Amino acid sequence: MNEFPPSHPLWETAKSLDAKDPLRKFRQEFMIADPDEIYLNGNSLGRLPVRTVQRLERIIREQWGVWLIRGWDRDWLKLLSRVADKLAVIIGAHPGEVLLADSTSVNLYKLAIACLNIQRGKKVVITDELNFPSDLYILRAAVQQAQGNWRLQILSSEDGNTLPLEKIEKAITPEVGLVALSHVCFRSGFLHDISRLSEVIHQHGAMLLVDVSHSAGVVPLRLHDWKVDLAVGCTYKFLNGGPGSPAFLYVREDLAPLLDNPIPGWLGHENPFRFDLEYRPARGIGRFRVGTPPVLAMAAVEPALDLLLEAGQENAYHKAKGLTEFFLSLYDAFLRPRGFGLATPREPDRRGAQISLIHPEAWPISRAARDRKVVLDFRPPNLLRMGFAPLYNSYQELARAVEIFCQIVDSQSYRQYPEGVDGIP
Ligand SMILES: *Cc1c(COP(=O)(O)O)cnc(C)c1O
Repeated sequence: MNEFPPSHPLWETAKSLDAKDPLRKFRQEFMIADPDEIYLNGNSLGRLPVRTVQRLERIIREQWGVWLIRGWDRDWLKLLSRVADKLAVIIGAHPGEVLLADSTSVNLYKLAIACLNIQRGKKVVITDELNFPSDLYILRAAVQQAQGNWRLQILSSEDGNTLPLEKIEKAITPEVGLVALSHVCFRSGFLHDISRLSEVIHQHGAMLLVDVSHSAGVVPLRLHDWKVDLAVGCTYKFLNGGPGSPAFLYVREDLAPLLDNPIPGWLGHENPFRFDLEYRPARGIGRFRVGTPPVLAMAAVEPALDLLLEAGQENAYHKAKGLTEFFLSLYDAFLRPRGFGLATPREPDRRGAQISLIHPEAWPISRAARDRKVVLDFRPPNLLRMGFAPLYNSYQELARAVEIFCQIVDSQSYRQYPEGVDGIP
């Protein structure tokens, strides 16, 4: 079996890639509590930006503490639109096409129902089994609750990891009103070609709703130019907005006036402070706001988006690609010979900033890795899932993680982790 000694050329490659990395200095912008810990979970919960700590401390003391109700007029309303505008740049939307609110699941519910209620005469919603479970639950509820006679068609994936565009194309008939997919699929990291899908779907009069939770911040997104109708996503993964930070929704500008929010709350009203007894929706995307936005959580999102914009989105995409590509060379040299498989596509344009390894002992290996300070996800039944965050992960961290995987497998130390501990199978 190949050893991975300090003299191995891939260590040199890692060092020189880090030395040339234009984003190298951004790591110090994040709180790194334990410099030896290799955090490969930025796709589940991104690291804390140092400036977020200072920002929140100030807002709590000086604004909540002193301004109280005056805060809304002094800055909080501006904060909401500022954050939305910054996010619009990141996802390739026009100003006024993005709203931060609620959770991704709730936003999906609002947009899916709103969409089905205007797609009169159509009957079918298409998604695929690579989608996130919450999305599937909500789409199932939406087809029952929307007006009309809808059913959900869930396309299956032959290999469990990918879904060719042709398969979606074949499923689209004039009866299809909505196609709802995750841009990057949470399990394998497979990436749908949204730009091409958008063309195909629109030719048949269907609408496209994309969940960009796993792609925002790490792969190029041009939602408006791709003519995507609707999108949702979260800000706590690669956007580093903090645990449970507000999610977002995107509605193409020409569509917003046609769609009705199925949860018509007072802050989606065209003039909430007139306290009318009748609901009249705000003209644009504001109609998808329901209740009072979480100002503190919203304020935590802004410095995180600033970091990404300062780093430069092209730099972030380039590095995300570089990290997955480098990991694949480590995989070929050391992990494939040790019995690991690969769930993530090898074509760079078909994956997000994620690698998912297949191993029959994935669960105990993930526990052993955590004890050796490599933090990654286990996804049943047999996946080790790693997200590579371009702003704070380094090439040498990936090399070190692979060295630790080799040691865990060669020494069989993972056998100390009996199944069933921690409540996972
Ligand atoms: C993370 C994720 C979610 C999370 O939804 P919340 O309601 O914000 O918890 C939803 N969909 C996808 C595709 C995700 O990756």
